[in-house]
Amino acid sequence: MRSHTALPADYHIHTPLCKHAEGDLATYQGVARDLGIPEICFTDHCPTPHGFDTAHRMELQEFPSYREGVLGLGEASDPRILFGVEADYYEGCEAFLARWLPLQGLDYVIGSVHFIDGWAFDDPEHRDSWETADVHSAWHRYFDLLGRLAESGLFDAVGHLDLPKKFGFRPPEGDLRVLAAPALDKIAGAGMGIEVNTSGLRKPVKEIYPSLTLLGMARERDIPICFGSDSHRPWEVGADFPLALQWVREAGYTHAFRVKGREKRAVPLP
Ligand code: ZN
Ligand code: FE
Ligand code: FE
Ligand code: ZN
Repeated sequence: MRSHTALPADYHIHTPLCKHAEGDLATYQGVARDLGIPEICFTDHCPTPHGFDTAHRMELQEFPSYREGVLGLGEASDPRILFGVEADYYEGCEAFLARWLPLQGLDYVIGSVHFIDGWAFDDPEHRDSWETADVHSAWHRYFDLLGRLAESGLFDAVGHLDLPKKFGFRPPEGDLRVLAAPALDKIAGAGMGIEVNTSGLRKPVKEIYPSLTLLGMARERDIPICFGSDSHRPWEVGADFPLALQWVREAGYTHAFRVKGREKRAVPLP
């Protein structure tokens, strides 16, 4: 089942420790190997000490077993394995992350916003709130949070940059550009990357995160990109990566970043 197109690294993979993913780590790695993916990074939902969204993440005390599980696969195995987390940005997260992240020996830290003022806006159970929400101000608040995420300097790349589109509620293109520009400026200024996340294709919006409009704006600012499947099941590894490659080429990208020990370097697209 090795694919005909060479595929890029997959830098967004979850594990059952987050309570909403399944499959053991070796099975995720095996799918990547079958697809000819050169490198994968496990990025399970980062624990927090504050009782923040505990239903969707491991406990702090479980982090050592997460690390052992990932590193236990062997760094030199096929494909190469990196050790990362997807950490939530929310008000008050900074002090803990600033102290804790540097001690964990991580290769890669995704920064994601999944909540707007306590509203789990991407949770299917809260999808109906979108029907009555002020869509423009929800996106405005979301991009404000992304700007602060970037300014925190805690993260290597932004996860699913336009996640609020998940259920199809989005501002007109012109408004979107105006709303997103300040956050993208801050992401570029912080030397951060963004991921091209194919899980949007598996959601009601049926579109890669970010949209071509936002990806073009990122390209204009020389913001580096990587690829992530956001797998919560082994068979989602590398999902739709050929489409993602077309998507980024259409936006004018020729390179993606690879990471190791939280240092990014550019490599040509496969
Ligand atoms: Zn998840
Ligand atoms: Fe996420
Ligand atoms: Fe994720
Ligand atoms: Zn995600």
